[in-house]
Amino acid sequence: MEYTLRHPEIHPVNDHVWLMDDNHEATFYVVAGNKQAMVIDTSIGMCNVREEARKVTQLPLICVNTHGHGDHMGGNWSFDKAYMHPSDLPLAQEAMEWPEVQAAINQMGIRYPGFEPIADGQIFDLGGIALQALCLPGHTPGEIVLLDAKDRLLFSGDGIIEHLWLQLPESLPVQTQIDSMRRLLPLRDQFDHILTGHCSAPVDASLFDALLAAAEDLAAGKTENDIDYPWLGNVGRAHPYAENRRIVYK
Ligand SMILES: [Zn+2]
Repeated sequence: MEYTLRHPEIHPVNDHVWLMDDNHEATFYVVAGNKQAMVIDTSIGMCNVREEARKVTQLPLICVNTHGHGDHMGGNWSFDKAYMHPSDLPLAQEAMEWPEVQAAINQMGIRYPGFEPIADGQIFDLGGIALQALCLPGHTPGEIVLLDAKDRLLFSGDGIIEHLWLQLPESLPVQTQIDSMRRLLPLRDQFDHILTGHCSAPVDASLFDALLAAAEDLAAGKTENDIDYPWLGNVGRAHPYAENRRIVYK
């Protein structure tokens, strides 16, 4: 298979935050301070993310992954180093070994960066904007979200999202997701919009409240409206909580 690069749709969120929609498959972001800029996630690997970020900022770039899944860290290859929570390194390793990725590596001569650990509460100071990484184990063990309190934005990867996947082998129990989200409640009044790993526009922060309430209902056994959910040759269960919103679980 010939490997050709593609380009995301670039949508400004404000004058220093950009949403990069990669073919509606995954979404990554650029946040520019006045000293450096952060790239949050890199989609599946078919974009040169560094070059795409250069279309909106010339500042030094740091790359931060919300988690280790290949549809988010796949494009890390355009960076020399990238941040990731250590608990997700095995997932990233698995993704880098996919045959399609190996074929691209061989054809394009690309290589993946070394990974720097992210600690819970770690602050990334971009100059004028500080993003705080907060652990949110659930979808994956090493999922993090990033709070940009200045812009009142929460970058949530796959951790807080309309379709929350908790059915994967690496996903943690629903109760863990609830505990993770409750831990963020003291910060809930610091963001108005959520920027997920799969969206084409900012989502109202009420998603957080609706998702937490739904997870609590699910943990309490209110599953009378739940349905089977086929995924990649398996069948999980889906807990709908609004139109086009669901928690998928084991
Ligand atoms: Zn994921």
